[in-house]
Amino acid sequence: MLQDAFGRTFEYLRLSITEVCNFRCSYCLPDGYAKRLGPGFLRRDELRRVARAFAELGTWKIRITGGEPSVRKDFEAIIEDLAAVPGVRRLAATTNGYRLNARARAWHKAGLQAINVSIDSLRADVFQRITGHDRLDEVLAGVEACLEAGYEAVKVNAVLLRGVNDTDLDLFTDYVRERPVSVRFIELMRTGDNADYFARYHVPASVVSAALESAGWVRKTRAPGAGPALEYVHGDYAGSIGLIAPYARDFCKTCNRLRVSALGRLHLCLFAQSGMDLRPLLQSDDQIDELKAFLVDALQTKAASHFLLDGETGGNRRFADIGG
Ligand code: SAM
Ligand code: SF4
Repeated sequence: MLQDAFGRTFEYLRLSITEVCNFRCSYCLPDGYAKRLGPGFLRRDELRRVARAFAELGTWKIRITGGEPSVRKDFEAIIEDLAAVPGVRRLAATTNGYRLNARARAWHKAGLQAINVSIDSLRADVFQRITGHDRLDEVLAGVEACLEAGYEAVKVNAVLLRGVNDTDLDLFTDYVRERPVSVRFIELMRTGDNADYFARYHVPASVVSAALESAGWVRKTRAPGAGPALEYVHGDYAGSIGLIAPYARDFCKTCNRLRVSALGRLHLCLFAQSGMDLRPLLQSDDQIDELKAFLVDALQTKAASHFLLDGETGGNRRFADIGG
């Protein structure tokens, strides 16, 4: 089992497969993706070895992320590869949803069990303003396609933005009234590139929890091994509302996740100064034991918490590089 010096165990890997994205979310890639020279993103055989080493160390959940993971032509093949790794019991992906309506069924058949779709606003004009794309209806149709395809979990991620969507709670609760979807409000996080944006748009997730509690939503007790999200439920609603509040005290105490970037760097924290290069250890199946030993040792250097409250965002310039 992967365990750090503070007794936290890591059963969840966020694996980025590309930095490329076709959207221009205002908090992430406001100018769009610009190609960078350098080594290519992890190949299928390298991704398989990452998954195998983590799974042999007790990681059972892998989330494929990016950039936009579905821009990769071999995305479906990657799903098949990772789903076949012994020990991987939950394979999930996070997507902006642009290919979801057409591909949800095929991805599910390939082995994808859970999906998070980013939808920051249920108002088409606001969605377009944030993402640069007039595609809300298409993305919403994609969520319906996931529900029909039988995914075990369908979640919608919304980054909470002051004056943009922080007064839209009713639209989101209406959305989950009949749908078994979990909407997750993610507090905007500061990264190296977004200081001014953060100062203007950050709003604490406590505004949502206060509004939910006054409308009769009840906080579910955290299951053992659950990550840092807080989950609210209500008897009249099929879905739920979750909050991810990284600025809240004790957020890091329940950290259960590690990240590998599309360039093969291990990030012990989203806000660590830098990643550790795994790529030289991903070139042959014979290196698995060496890779596992590296991971076990690396974990001993994981810090107790991030330093976001001191304004320290580490080396993370934007989430598209590491996968969020
Ligand atoms: N392209 C996919 C998508 O948007 O769902 C996957 C990658 S994206 C980097 C993963 C998640 O990070 C998305 O839900 C996105 O909204 C979130 N995100 C990006 N930048 C963020 C920031 N500065 N603060 C909070 N969440 C952020
Ligand atoms: Fe692309 Fe996702 Fe970043 Fe939006 S949040 S720009 S969809 S990587």
